[in-house]
Amino acid sequence: QIHLLVITMLITTLLTPITTNNTSPQPWNILSNNNFAGKLTSASSSVEAAAIDFGHVTKIFPSAVLNPSSVQDITDIIKLSFDSQSSFPIAARGHGHSFRGQAAAKDGVVVNMRSMIKEDRGIEVSRTGLYADVDSAWLWIEVLNKTLELGLTPVSWTDYLYLTVGGTLSNGGISGQASRYGPQITNVLEMDVITGKGEIVTCSKHMNSDLFYAALGGLGQFGIITRARIKLELAPKRAKWLRFLYTDFSEFTRDQERLISETDDLHFLEGSVMLDHGPPDNWRSTYYPPSDHLKIVSMIKRHRVIYCLEVVKYYDETSQHSVNEEMEELSESLNYVRGFMYEKDVTYMDFLNRVRTGELKLKSKGQWDVPHPWLNLFVPKSQISRFDYGVFKGIILRNNITSGPLLVYPMNRNKWNDQMSTAIPEEDVFYVVGFLRSAEFDNWEAYDKENTEVLKFCEDAKMNAIQYLPYHASQEGWVRHFGRRWNNFVERKFRYDPKMILSPGQNIFQ
Ligand code: FAD
Repeated sequence: QIHLLVITMLITTLLTPITTNNTSPQPWNILSNNNFAGKLTSASSSVEAAAIDFGHVTKIFPSAVLNPSSVQDITDIIKLSFDSQSSFPIAARGHGHSFRGQAAAKDGVVVNMRSMIKEDRGIEVSRTGLYADVDSAWLWIEVLNKTLELGLTPVSWTDYLYLTVGGTLSNGGISGQASRYGPQITNVLEMDVITGKGEIVTCSKHMNSDLFYAALGGLGQFGIITRARIKLELAPKRAKWLRFLYTDFSEFTRDQERLISETDDLHFLEGSVMLDHGPPDNWRSTYYPPSDHLKIVSMIKRHRVIYCLEVVKYYDETSQHSVNEEMEELSESLNYVRGFMYEKDVTYMDFLNRVRTGELKLKSKGQWDVPHPWLNLFVPKSQISRFDYGVFKGIILRNNITSGPLLVYPMNRNKWNDQMSTAIPEEDVFYVVGFLRSAEFDNWEAYDKENTEVLKFCEDAKMNAIQYLPYHASQEGWVRHFGRRWNNFVERKFRYDPKMILSPGQNIFQ
């Protein structure tokens, strides 16, 4: 039925007369087009840079890179492709922090969104409306710096802030705040989107709502987001940041699930798996007191796999007097291994930007620009114990190659919006599981093989796990990925990008 729908739509599109130019401009013969003078380049340094991403496992060359200086430039290039008989693929590239060529455009044009950034322009904060209008190419760290000047802040974050607004809104944007505030895509009030027909559309839940919901989590398939209106709140000053270690997975998940159901108590909740791979800290954060490293490592050695619950409560002058008491009460209610509770008190900025220190350290050692065969999954709550047994204590221990951060924390489904494009499990609570691997250029395939093993385990066990920041090699994989949402996804593609121009690197329709 699904394939029939795709075929029918394809035939309808092919038979629909589309106004075309007589010429068939291709990236290589529009280089001389005056509209793009000085902005469209096929210089090898530019196409090389656009061919790779943070994953460093693919190299997909575009024919040209567009460095737009205005929204009009992006509209023009999309229109040029749409109006031609043989259109060429176009991909927006935010900060290129994808893992598998998702922001690539083979033989097409990569739009370098960051070239839109002009000094201090493009982040307009409304104090009365409690929102910021942000050009989509800004990095979240830049948005944070700007809003903090006025004592305001977005509420939902990713763990790492050097990602563009457009890039994370095309996926979801999740971190430990999402169980309370929802993912970043549910904290957007309005957007400007250029569709695959080259039309600029302002959309929100009240205006052109179908495009609004389609583009949020839409993997760049329905349009290029050029502006987003982000919800803001008053910024807190500081963060109480606590970690608790567990040896028992069911105690760990029971505490996590209870805490995310008491949504008003905490501002952030995550969790991770700790394996016997050297010191307990990793690049995502330097946290544990060095004097305790031995004690923690020996607990890991004894149990082989342990778990860390991580929570944060923000506070400022008005709540300073009560925060310690509240966190003490919370600690007492948890079933962690006594003696293994850790506490830090940091500024709000230092907490949100916690991954940056690790990034700079790795960069200085030349270990940042290495292959990252990451795998991120959403696992339904009912399956998470089986996942622990089969994957963390099974595949991962057996293969003994995984190192680096391994995340596992729950989300409330009711904080998401089903009309948005991101595929999520059907259960009320589901877990984010992230294997954030760093590899060498000559061994990343071993990790990739392990990812395949994990995915096969989930499939064989019929867990209904869904990839986040997904990669599927075939359309069949995408059909399974979206499940009941697939038909709607396809219909929206035909509505907003009927010539399948946008974000070909996602490998969904091409
Ligand atoms: P790109 O890689 O440039 O693009 C990603 C996709 O979005 C492509 O398909 C591209 O065509 C499309 N796209 C880009 N800009 C636009 C636009 N303006 N309009 C429409 N489509 C667009 N994710 C989380 O949710 N939580 C995390 O905590 C988190 N941590 C991360 C930490 C690191 C170190 C890294 C490398 C990634 C992390 N991610 C996380 C994943 C990240 O959110 C995604 O990879 C995101 O897409 C990266 O943003 P980008 O600007 O680099 O996008």
